[in-house]
Amino acid sequence: MELWYTEEHTPNVRFSIKVREQILSEASPFQQIDVFDSEEFGRFFTLDGLMMVTEKDEFIYHEMIAHVPMATNPGIRRVLVIGGGDGGTVREVARYGGVERIDMVDIDEAVVRVCREHLHFTSCSLGDPRVTLHFEDGLKFVRRFERAYDLIIVDSTDPFGPGEGLFTKEFYGNCFKALSDDGILVNQHENPYYDSYASSMERAHSRIREFFPVCRVYQAHIPTYPSGHWLFGFASKKFDPTEGIDAMAWNALGIETKYYNTDIHRGAFMLPNYVKRALESA
Ligand code: SAM
Repeated sequence: MELWYTEEHTPNVRFSIKVREQILSEASPFQQIDVFDSEEFGRFFTLDGLMMVTEKDEFIYHEMIAHVPMATNPGIRRVLVIGGGDGGTVREVARYGGVERIDMVDIDEAVVRVCREHLHFTSCSLGDPRVTLHFEDGLKFVRRFERAYDLIIVDSTDPFGPGEGLFTKEFYGNCFKALSDDGILVNQHENPYYDSYASSMERAHSRIREFFPVCRVYQAHIPTYPSGHWLFGFASKKFDPTEGIDAMAWNALGIETKYYNTDIHRGAFMLPNYVKRALESA
């Protein structure tokens, strides 16, 4: 008998992966958590039936969400990761010796527990002494800070269910307040291709633009996310990631990556016309 994991990318489009074995199925107070093993993508985990991380392609998402801001401002010391319970984003940020403190706030302790147990490839740096884990709604957590972080990375689920608040005007305004004078906010920005995701992306972009003087969007190809074409938002009080980074300095750090490099950094901000238009009209 064959076992397949099938995810609805739109009411008319489905994406399936042949499964070797289901490892875990658990309902937390916030969401349904499932872990599977597969031939093609290795181990993967889903929340409420939506793909979060696969062993084979997680490096693309986590490298792009972390290294783009880190290379833009080599002076980043204090980092807040909101969501990101699998630990992949923390793993990438922790590779920088200059980072002094990483706070990770996930609403769901169960996601972190499950990932620590079953997804070592992403959760491996959660025990780093610079990392502090907080189990709380990121929307509430960020309210109490002023100029406390150099970088906030929003590694959230989609804008419904527990992740909804992380796409609101109130949240972006509080992120602005919580960032230092040269602070950067990066967030997962949905896909531009399917209508329902594209409208979330446009809404998020227009809300972020109300607060931050620099507001850009960059892209990566992530095979297991809807349409495979994924966007990230880059907002900042000062640094413009498209104005040239110090590529020599970043390369001299000797951080070995599988996807990110300083050429990709430049190229990722070059968007297709339909995406540019959607962002302009947002
Ligand atoms: N890479 C992923 C993606 O886009 O598919 C995101 C994965 S990450 C596991 C998302 C995390 O955000 C989950 O662990 C979830 O518990 C957390 N999360 C959702 N809403 C949240 C909130 N309001 N505050 C903090 N964490 C939240």
